[in-house]
Amino acid sequence: MAIHKGGCHCGAVRFEVEAPEDLEVSECNCSICTKSGYLHLIVPRSRFHLISGADNLETYTFDTHEAKHLFCRTCGIKSFYIPRSHPEGISVNARCLDDTTINSMSIEPFDGRNWEANIHKLKPLPTG
Ligand SMILES: [Zn+2]
Repeated sequence: MAIHKGGCHCGAVRFEVEAPEDLEVSECNCSICTKSGYLHLIVPRSRFHLISGADNLETYTFDTHEAKHLFCRTCGIKSFYIPRSHPEGISVNARCLDDTTINSMSIEPFDGRNWEANIHKLKPLPTG
C-alpha cells in the first residue's frame, strides 16, 4: 500500500488516499462520468484524508440525489466524491492523483449507463 496525494486543479482541495501502488480503477459510462472523464478509485473513508479545501467544495446532485458530487468552487474539478454505489466510502478521481507514487493503473469499464443491471458487478469496499 502507498499513500497517494492528489487534489483539484487550482490546489485548494488536497487529500491523501491509502491504496496499492498498482491501482485498479473503473471507467464509468454514465451521464456525468462520461462528460468529466472520471476514473474511480473507491476506498473506505478510513483510507481517505482531506488535507485542505473542505470549505471550498460545492455539492451537485441529480436523478436519485444519492451520489454527492463534490467539486472545487474555484476550478470546478471533481477530485473525489461520495458515490451512489458505495455511500459509506469515497470515490477518488484517479486522474487527480499526483503520479509520483503510482506504479501502474489498470482501467476496468463499468456500465453505469445501465446502473441497476450492473451494480452487483462492482467489488465491495476493502475492509480496514
Ligand atoms: Zn480547485
